[in-house]
Amino acid sequence: TGAAHWLFGDQLGPHFLTPGEEGPHRDTPLLMIESRAVFRRRRFHRAKAHLVLSAMRHRAAELGDRVTYVQARTYREGLRKAAGDRPVTVHHPTSRAALALVDALPQVTVLPARGFLVSHQEFADWAESRGGRALRQEDFYRRTRAAHDLLMEGDRPASGRWNLDHDNREPPPRDAGALDVPAPYRPREDAVDDEVRHDLDRWERSGEVAFVGRDGPRHFPATRREALNALRRFTAERLATFGPYEDAMLTDDPVMSHSLLSSSLNLGLLDPAECVERAEAAWRSGDAPLNSVEGFVRQIAGWREYIWHLYWHFGEEYRTTNALGHHAPLPDWWSDLDADAVTAHCLSTVLAQLRDTGWTHHIPRLMILGNYALQRGWDPAALTDWFHRCFVDGYDWVMLPNVLGMSQYADGGRMTTKPYASGGAYLNRMSDYCSPCAYRPDHRTGDRACPYTAGYWTFVHRHHDRLVHNPRTAQAARGMERLTDLDEVVRQEEARGDGAP
Ligand code: FAD
Repeated sequence: TGAAHWLFGDQLGPHFLTPGEEGPHRDTPLLMIESRAVFRRRRFHRAKAHLVLSAMRHRAAELGDRVTYVQARTYREGLRKAAGDRPVTVHHPTSRAALALVDALPQVTVLPARGFLVSHQEFADWAESRGGRALRQEDFYRRTRAAHDLLMEGDRPASGRWNLDHDNREPPPRDAGALDVPAPYRPREDAVDDEVRHDLDRWERSGEVAFVGRDGPRHFPATRREALNALRRFTAERLATFGPYEDAMLTDDPVMSHSLLSSSLNLGLLDPAECVERAEAAWRSGDAPLNSVEGFVRQIAGWREYIWHLYWHFGEEYRTTNALGHHAPLPDWWSDLDADAVTAHCLSTVLAQLRDTGWTHHIPRLMILGNYALQRGWDPAALTDWFHRCFVDGYDWVMLPNVLGMSQYADGGRMTTKPYASGGAYLNRMSDYCSPCAYRPDHRTGDRACPYTAGYWTFVHRHHDRLVHNPRTAQAARGMERLTDLDEVVRQEEARGDGAP
């Protein structure tokens, strides 16, 4: 019998099946494997497990007779069941573990990756052209814009500027409570979701698997049709306001003008090319301003691509990189997403969003969650694993550089020029979290000391020698030297230990 083509659970869109030299033929039989071992080993967010299984089963239903869908304990067992010893092709998987697995199976041929704009070769050429200098996102992004003709006028960037960030990064509108934008698209569940929910309940009851987070209506697209609806709604109604408030946070409006497209992109339901093309079309037709469109294109063609390639470029050792020597374990209240145990209004709000939906936007991830862990010296690999399991859009490739590099500075600055540590003043400027809070962003000591402000100075204290030698953090290190109450700040922070703030 002839070859079959294997679709991983994050290769669900039509662009994984378009024929061509490097893809399966139109009538190649397909196989999909639902491996229970993935969930058995670690505690995933319930909403994430639901989304992934729902998306795979929806895709299998669409493909009908063309696909053999097997449930198995492991991928190996599943492959034996579905394909016997027939030859199998698969597009380059998205994790090192999955790549190692398919490479080790003699019957499997690995085809080039799909679902990204920039090929491995293109990235390698760019990295080579940097000649050992740091691989900064901004350079990569500009090169990608030009090479893929995104928001370009000839060989110049539209409007003459590559980066319109200074029009963005606004604090949230005061006293508004929520941004004045139409609500995001939300899917409606169907019989496939009922079946997934039933299975997850059953596995959980039998003690076979355990989840974190709450079950609730599925919030994110599980099918191509739903993902296209979400993309259309976003570009038509919400993209115009994406830019200005990209970095702002509001208690009662967790989504603001963000696209909520990450899980659809990462499941492979959407192709990044179509997302940036639609955004560019909205600008060209005058429906969205350039600062918003450029901001969105940068997220996808810049950040997302850059993260994907760094994951492969950095190699396996990156996983255990720990330049700051942080080894503290994550406390239980954090691992369990116990938002009710937390007094600090920002952190309890964000943990509750995560517990209830498996998603928060970029700035809560970086400046509320990541920042808190960084200040406390938590083990970066344990934190990466936690992010991976708790977020609906979390995958190995996207979590490693984002958490280890960007958020925890565990790579000592290969990705960012300085650690993303900040005190309460930044959070107060960029959110409405602080006014109802029991702590004050400008208090370093005493009953009302903001855990972020005190944590920030404790972090600077712990890493003073490193920070004073980095031009981007030298000022903070010098500022710390002038604090008269530093001993008290550090003593109080140490007394808090890993208790919920
Ligand atoms: P928008 O704000 O609307 O942005 C549009 C798109 O840009 C996103 O859908 C996403 O596909 C892409 N994007 C933007 N920034 C990044 C980035 N740094 N890395 C990869 N893609 C990016 N994103 C994930 O997809 N999966 C993750 O596991 C993940 N973990 C993160 C962990 C930390 C500590 C941090 C700081 C960021 C992480 N991100 C991750 C990036 C980013 O926070 C999410 O992509 C974004 O919040 C998803 O919401 P959205 O779709 O509304 O994004």
